Amino acid sequence: MNIFVVGGAGYIGSHCVRQITAAGHRPVVLDSLVCGHRQAVAPDVPFYHGDLADRSLVAKILRDEKIDVVMHFAAFINVGESVSNPLKYYGNNVAKTLALLETMLAEGVKKFVFSSTAAVYGIPEKMPIREDAPKAPINPYGQTKLDCENLLSALAVANGLSFAVFRYFNACGAAEDGTIGEAHDPETHLIPNVIRAAMGLQPSLEIFGDDYPTPDGTCLRDYVHVDDISRAHIAAFDRLGNSGAQLRYNLGSGRPFSVSEIVKAVEAVSGKKVPVKFVPRRAGDPPELCADNAKARAELGWTPKFGDIGAIIETAWRWHSAHPAGYGA
Ligand code: UDP
Repeated sequence: MNIFVVGGAGYIGSHCVRQITAAGHRPVVLDSLVCGHRQAVAPDVPFYHGDLADRSLVAKILRDEKIDVVMHFAAFINVGESVSNPLKYYGNNVAKTLALLETMLAEGVKKFVFSSTAAVYGIPEKMPIREDAPKAPINPYGQTKLDCENLLSALAVANGLSFAVFRYFNACGAAEDGTIGEAHDPETHLIPNVIRAAMGLQPSLEIFGDDYPTPDGTCLRDYVHVDDISRAHIAAFDRLGNSGAQLRYNLGSGRPFSVSEIVKAVEAVSGKKVPVKFVPRRAGDPPELCADNAKARAELGWTPKFGDIGAIIETAWRWHSAHPAGYGA
C-alpha cells in the first residue's frame, strides 16, 4: 500500500516511516520541517516539503502517489505552550487537520490513522486507563486532540471515513541502530533530559515535584518504545477496510515507572551518576498515567517488543551519545 505520512520527519513519524518500509509498504512523506528533520527520513523515501493545509499540494500528492492510507503526525505537542498560546494549537492541530481531511475526502481517500494522546483523559479516576474512560482534557493540547477525534467520529458516520486513533502514553526510545531518535527544541521530555544530565549537557535533571501521592512522591508514567508505537499503526491497516470503521486504541506498555525510577534506570544503563534537583510541581501533570492496552493486544495482535525499561533506555542512550546535538550535529 501507498501510505502518506504527514509529519513523517518528526519523532514518531520518522520511526513509523521506517516500519512502513520494513513491513513492505511504500511511505510518502509530507513535512513542513517546522519541528521535523529532513535527515530523519531516508533519501530514497519520496519527500514533499510543505504544509498539510496546502490543499492543492496535498490533493496532487494523493493523486500522483496513488495514496491508500493517510497517517497524520503533524501536531504541536507542548502542553505548557498550548496553555499560553492556544490559537497556535487550535490553528495547527484542529484547523489544519480539518483541511487535510477535507482534501482527502474530496479526492476519495477515506482511510486515516491519527496520533492522539493520553492527555484526552485529563486526570483519570481509575488506573489503568481503558479506552472508554471519560475524556476530560485539562489543557488545550489534549482538547485539540479530542476535538479531532470527535470530528473523525462524525466523518465516519457522514462520509464513510474509516479511521484508527492511537492514544499515546509516553513515547520514548530510538531506532535500535541509533541513527534516528528524539530531538525536540526545546526538549521537555523526561528521558532525553535525564540522559542530557547524565552526559553533562545540562547541569542537573529538574524533578517536577516529590510530593505526589505515589510510592516515592514523583509522578508515575507509562513509557512505550517509539518502534512499538509504530508497529501498532501498521497492524491497524488491515482493519481500515470497512467503510466507517472507528478504531480507538491506547498505546502504552501497561507498567508505570516513577520519575526517580527512570533516573535510576538511566544511571544503570549509562554507568553515570545523574545530578538531580527537586523543584515544584509542573502545572497540569497528573500524578499517574498508565494504559490498559488489552484492546490493542486483542484486536491488533500487538505486543510491545520492548518489555523492559532498561532496553528502551539503552536505545535512547545510543542515539543521544552518538548525536549530542540531535540532528544539528
Ligand atoms: N519530568 C521531570 N523533569 C523533566 C521532564 C519531565 O520531572 O525535565 C516529569 C514530568 O513532570 C512528568 C514525567 O517526568 O511527571 C514525564 O514528563 P514528560 O514531559 O516526559 O511527558 P508527559 O507525561 O508530560 O507527557
